[in-house]
Amino acid sequence: MHRAGYDAIGASFAYVPFAVTEPDLPGALAGMRALGIRGLGVSMPFKLSVIPLLDRLDPVARRIGAVNTIVNEDGLLVGYNTDAWGAAHALSEALELAGKSVLVLGAGGAARAAVFAFCEAKMRVHLVNRTAQKARELARAAELEGFTVTATGLGDLPAEAPDAIVNCTSATMDEYGAESLVPASLLSPRVVVMDIVYKPIQTRLLALAEQAGARTVHGGRMLLHQAGRQFELYTGVPAPLEAMDAALRQAMGR
Ligand code: NAP
Repeated sequence: MHRAGYDAIGASFAYVPFAVTEPDLPGALAGMRALGIRGLGVSMPFKLSVIPLLDRLDPVARRIGAVNTIVNEDGLLVGYNTDAWGAAHALSEALELAGKSVLVLGAGGAARAAVFAFCEAKMRVHLVNRTAQKARELARAAELEGFTVTATGLGDLPAEAPDAIVNCTSATMDEYGAESLVPASLLSPRVVVMDIVYKPIQTRLLALAEQAGARTVHGGRMLLHQAGRQFELYTGVPAPLEAMDAALRQAMGR
């Protein structure tokens, strides 16, 4: 995606993967400074552990408490979180967000980004998580930022269908048993169902939602939008989303 974007704007950037282990993390960031690497995308499990190694945090990343993007501003390493941007932009492809209700499943790093993004977009958020305590803690964190989020355990889903359901758990991934977690009673043509999991791209939840006539948004859309925001932070110019989307579709075989 990133390389396709650089080609589209004629930028001479390269985007390459680095395999970093936890003890190497400080060295990796020192290397970023020393080598003048402009940006780094940060994936699990380093989204939290990089924070103390950075010089500055963008306010969105600070609120979410996780960093997935580092920009090297003349030797100053600044941490950003583009997952929130990605979640809101992906869901807004299928739904006008303001004033709508959304049921968010999960209370991990991605759910945290999504919850703050949906609150910012003026959605009414209900949060459920397998570990109910973590859902309540996230709701409390949102409350401290001036938002209202209700929270319950997974076994205590609202009876009334929301306007949107967004899965931010890993449960729909193949290696976690590809569970749906959402009862059939909540799936109907009136609801938009988004699954942020992109391995597989067509999750069991999305298949059941489509069968019920719901509009669906797959995890590739959030992946694209969060990468587009990273691209803008790295290059300072608008992301060529069409070229990036074409590369993503090719990689995903869609
Ligand atoms: P995380 O911090 O490890 O959180 C995992 C969440 O999933 C927790 O809420 C956990 O519940 C829940 N969970 C895991 N297995 C479950 C199961 N069998 N049943 C019910 N709940 C289960 O992970 P994360 O960083 O938030 O990422 C979550 C998923 O989002 C991953 O698949 C990741 O690839 C995807 N993601 C996608 C994008 C994108 O751009 N599309 C961006 C970021 C992440 P407990 O709290 O009870 O353990």
